[in-house]
Amino acid sequence: MSIYHSTVSRREFMKGLGLAGAGLGAASLVSPKFNDIDELTSSEATHPYKRWWINENEYEDITSPVDWNVWRSYDRKAHPGPDMFATGPMSPKLREARAERHKQGILNNWPGTTLRDLSLDGATGGNAPAIPWDSNSASSPESRGATGPWQGSPEENLQTCRAAAHFYGAPRVGAIVINEHMKRLFDGNVVWEDIDTGFIDEQGVYHVPNKCKYILVWLVKQNYYMSTLALRNNPKDPWYNTVFRQGKAAENQAYSHAPQVRNQLTKFIKGLGYQALKPAATANVPFGVFAGIVEQGRASHACSPDYGNMIRYCDFAVTDMPLAATRPIDAGVVNFCKSCKRCAENCPSKALSLDTEQTWDTVDSANNPGHQCWPMNWTACNDFGGPFDCVNCHTICPFNHPEDAIIHPVIRATAATTTLFNGFFAEMDKVMGYSDQRSDEEHLAWWSRNLSNWKEDSLLGFGVKSW
Ligand code: SF4
Ligand code: SF4
Repeated sequence: MSIYHSTVSRREFMKGLGLAGAGLGAASLVSPKFNDIDELTSSEATHPYKRWWINENEYEDITSPVDWNVWRSYDRKAHPGPDMFATGPMSPKLREARAERHKQGILNNWPGTTLRDLSLDGATGGNAPAIPWDSNSASSPESRGATGPWQGSPEENLQTCRAAAHFYGAPRVGAIVINEHMKRLFDGNVVWEDIDTGFIDEQGVYHVPNKCKYILVWLVKQNYYMSTLALRNNPKDPWYNTVFRQGKAAENQAYSHAPQVRNQLTKFIKGLGYQALKPAATANVPFGVFAGIVEQGRASHACSPDYGNMIRYCDFAVTDMPLAATRPIDAGVVNFCKSCKRCAENCPSKALSLDTEQTWDTVDSANNPGHQCWPMNWTACNDFGGPFDCVNCHTICPFNHPEDAIIHPVIRATAATTTLFNGFFAEMDKVMGYSDQRSDEEHLAWWSRNLSNWKEDSLLGFGVKSW
């Protein structure tokens, strides 16, 4: 049994930090607004959308800055990514190795890789509805008896979309007002014109109406506890640094959820009488970053102050429904990454940077020039088999932990306001065993979990733990 389930009270934690007895001795470091930790963590200001420690920056002022003089939109020829079928996870060599691992797991009844684990994971694939770029059809307002589209202020419309998105299964929503910079987040085959309705021409060029000035952005997350069951990072394990399919099911399930959420949310927007388009955009993380619902952390993924790297997708729809833009955030994620490095230290392919500071340099053809970040070597990850055969960087991020696991609201707040304890928090995360491979008993226990009170499942939109 790992120490994953260990709990530490707030008092014990502050004592460990050397702060007990000072009331909230760290208060001046954290915030002058709160007198003690309980007041801090129970405050209205800790509401997911208005947590006091999440700073809102000016529009486009993101914590992984872009130099628009250098940045260029994606071009598959000039800017190619690695070939996953030639040398990557879908290459014959890695597919055969994976199949052999699975066979041995079944024959040896290895918890996490048994036939039922493989079947659990296998059933998560292939469930996506076919969604055209201009979304599936929905009844028009007129067909329902309305005289025209739903009318609301940009702020009201954003809240309306948030409420619907939450019900469909997206816990965080933001919006971007499109300008010339934001247009460049899309691939090179997207053009903006004075037309009424978007269309794709025979050359595959996306023609987007200029009146579609807004981008609704939402998160699709994946189940954290389940994801930890994918970790296979015990050096004594014969298949060290691969994955257990039982836990990998969490990621694949999120890939199944993402199109369902998208299908429903875009049909909802169409039902209100507006367009909901998805022009080509190879990278999805920038939309979440500019909409202020994530930062981009060291692992290159979307890193949310609420869910860490447990974000499967920052999905979006370009629309003519007026939306109030949300500002980029600084929740201390990038600053925490500077001293944390847990993802990079646990990357078996050395694809992630161990440098303390972000850089403007690129390390791989798939990196965007003109972006200050920790660039990822996509080719090294791909050739190792990631992310099919490795989930380390996604799964071990300290920001992943649910907030009722020990004292994570305090850690989040402190990390956002001072860098003083960041190294300590990262080290504590390691010592607590959060990112250790789960035991056989834990893999087996999942199958017989008490379904009436198991807190870790997340039913879409049902407001369960951490949603
Ligand atoms: S998925 Fe790729 S980048 Fe992430 S830890 Fe594994 S090999 Fe490294
Ligand atoms: S594991 Fe640490 S360094 Fe990596 S993304 Fe998470 S906070 Fe940043």
